[in-house]
Amino acid sequence: MSPFELTVVMYHYVRDPGDRCEAGTGIPGLGVAQFEAQVARLAREHAMIAWPDLRDFLVEEKPLPASACLLTFDDGLLDHFHNVFPILRAHGLSGLFFALAREDGEPLTLAHQIHFLLPVLTCQGLRDAVWNWLTPVQQESFILAEGRYEARFNSGSPDDPTLILKSVLQREFADEARPILSELFERHIGDEAATARDYYLSRAQIAVMAAGGMHFGGHSRSHPWFDWIGTAAQTMEIAASAEWLHGIEPGPWAFAYPYGGFNARSPGLLQAHGFVAGLTTREHISQTEPYGIGRYDGESLRHDWDAIERGRVRRDV
Ligand SMILES: [Zn+2]
Repeated sequence: MSPFELTVVMYHYVRDPGDRCEAGTGIPGLGVAQFEAQVARLAREHAMIAWPDLRDFLVEEKPLPASACLLTFDDGLLDHFHNVFPILRAHGLSGLFFALAREDGEPLTLAHQIHFLLPVLTCQGLRDAVWNWLTPVQQESFILAEGRYEARFNSGSPDDPTLILKSVLQREFADEARPILSELFERHIGDEAATARDYYLSRAQIAVMAAGGMHFGGHSRSHPWFDWIGTAAQTMEIAASAEWLHGIEPGPWAFAYPYGGFNARSPGLLQAHGFVAGLTTREHISQTEPYGIGRYDGESLRHDWDAIERGRVRRDV
């Protein structure tokens, strides 16, 4: 396909400290007023589109408006019902929500267990708590894995240790970490299933949002790194999303890669399961590949609005 210009912005947590979504968890997010200001500015500077506009462009080559912009929201969080949906409705806008293929009552994913535990235990505390659960052999491979990410994330940033810990837990130790983190959750926070119920969108909330002009896409079932898991696991994750989307959103659908990770097999697997778009976390506006569509993080735009402008300039070079 020939390159096309599209600005996509990605959001996760949209919340204020102490509101019903943050609920004293200490999990930070983009403030609600900041989110509304960003949306208003994007709407002034761009032609805001909805998922069906992009779908029709990809499937039928129906043209997009100049300076098109699409708002996307990952993980199917309660924030999107209480804090995002009303603002989008007030501005006459639609969002594309990449929710996990889960049913009401299922526990947290590993990614979100980590989000809850980090503010409570701190990075070092979480690392030590996990460490105590590992066998000596596991501890040895844990250190080796940390060493590999230390070499990769050696930026001198205070975020480095958190990135390293998350990387090891989400990849090498994903299978081992889940039950350990569930134990830590029960010990330090409380009932994980009850927390999950008040953390993810319910089926009923999704139905209300869909009836209110919002659109839904796939984001896998268990939120793994697609560039880490095998092809069979990737296929299961994508198939779960396709099955989940039936009855929620008419196909073909869009998919957001968990953590933005994907590999050479991902586009073909998505295509085989009824997905026509794959959204990444790479920042670019000039889109050359429907399964590698770039997105800007709304939380980074808060500090660096010009990133979008630079993305445009890079295209022109
Ligand atoms: Zn996600």
